[in-house]
Amino acid sequence: MDNMTADIWNKVLHALKSRVPGPNFETWFRPLKLLRQEQSRLLVQAPNPLARDWIDNHYEGLFQEILKDLGEGALEVVLVDATQSGEDLQLSPPERGEAEQKKEFKKTRTYQAHLNPNYHFDRFVVGPSNRFAHAAALAVAQNPSNSYNPLYIYGGVGLGKTHLMQSIGNYIQENTSASKMTYLSAERFMNEMISAIAHRQQPVFRERYRQVDVLLLDDVHFLVGKTGTQEELFHTFNALYESQKQIVISSDCPPGQLQGIEERLKSRFQWGLIADIHPPELETKVAILHKKAEAYEVILPDDVALFIGTHMGSNIRELEGCLMRLIAFSSFKGQPITLDLAKQTFETLFKKEGRVTTVEAIQKYVATAYKLRVQDLKSKTNRADIVLPRQVCMFLCRELTGASLPEIGRRFGGKHHSTVLHSIRKVEDKMARDLTFQQQVQSFLNSFR
Ligand code: ADP
Ligand code: MG
Repeated sequence: MDNMTADIWNKVLHALKSRVPGPNFETWFRPLKLLRQEQSRLLVQAPNPLARDWIDNHYEGLFQEILKDLGEGALEVVLVDATQSGEDLQLSPPERGEAEQKKEFKKTRTYQAHLNPNYHFDRFVVGPSNRFAHAAALAVAQNPSNSYNPLYIYGGVGLGKTHLMQSIGNYIQENTSASKMTYLSAERFMNEMISAIAHRQQPVFRERYRQVDVLLLDDVHFLVGKTGTQEELFHTFNALYESQKQIVISSDCPPGQLQGIEERLKSRFQWGLIADIHPPELETKVAILHKKAEAYEVILPDDVALFIGTHMGSNIRELEGCLMRLIAFSSFKGQPITLDLAKQTFETLFKKEGRVTTVEAIQKYVATAYKLRVQDLKSKTNRADIVLPRQVCMFLCRELTGASLPEIGRRFGGKHHSTVLHSIRKVEDKMARDLTFQQQVQSFLNSFR
């Protein structure tokens, strides 16, 4: 590994240290080990799958933000655990010279997969809520361009859309290495486009995405209202479709309900197959918990899985967050996982009457406390009487739910995770300076605990 890479990683660690509270840094980030750089990706090893998932769950987006601050926005951190060597992360086509990799818009980077190796079909639990979407995704993976084109997958937050999209990518990468396949979020698509314009590299950008065999575009609802990017996507879609290349799209709603997306794009999204994912039933939630526990090699008694499944909402990311919290608590206490331990762990998370603290509940609470509407908290307005309650609300969500920063951002009308982080810091700062404010926030916290 060259010194430059090690140097960047040291800077990242340094920045993390100032942003992540001490004990969290020591527990989760300190043990990370930089393996190597592969094209634009820094492969970083976590000591075990739990640590890897914890960071993915709780600090998604933080690495990106730090790299951006360091002027290394083109790089990306990919976490693997000690059971993975990272060998499975090889990108196609093979790398060329080092000098070439540095430039953002070199042709060697034309087909970037951006895949997380953990998102695999065999790690996806199939139940009635997602059977159809799973079957459609598998069919496309096994036979791209010949099954359904485009495949449009939609469903609520944390229900497995990204997992399915990336499973398609991983499957294709493993089985048909010749395919030029790209997975990226609509947000990244937009950012790359903007960057291409800034660097006068539009033709390279166009070529990059109009020449792939498979395009997996995640979270297309992000493009609502972003007409320039929609226009570009429209042409990309046409180029790919006409040459019978596979397109897979995910979104949080059916195409018809994408208000703020051009009609011609919406209609194209409906040309192929539309598959929806529903919130998981209790049985599926329990099965997912067991599967995860198995991956972490911990014993999860049935009554505990049922307890978590019953109390948690349908967001599978939050469900996993709960399990991780329980495992961490059990190892911290040196006690096996039992129903009693689970109850102790979730005392703060599940409300006294046994309900879980959700982002929605906190938003309602804060809106009431400040005599605002929930819509105000989610709006874009910067009115002084709304900004502070919104920041407090984000802070409470971070303290009381398992939601990650990007997730919280999404629940506040699609705000960027850096905005969420900024808001949380504002609240922390104010709490440190203003005792009355501190007491107020504390009383909000207590009413959920
Ligand atoms: P979305 O993209 O719909 O917001 P994700 O695909 O990111 O949701 O899923 C959130 C988390 O839940 C991920 O860690 C994913 O692996 C997990 N998950 C979702 N659905 C399933 C499933 N059916 N089986 C196993 N894990 C799942
Ligand atoms: Mg997703």
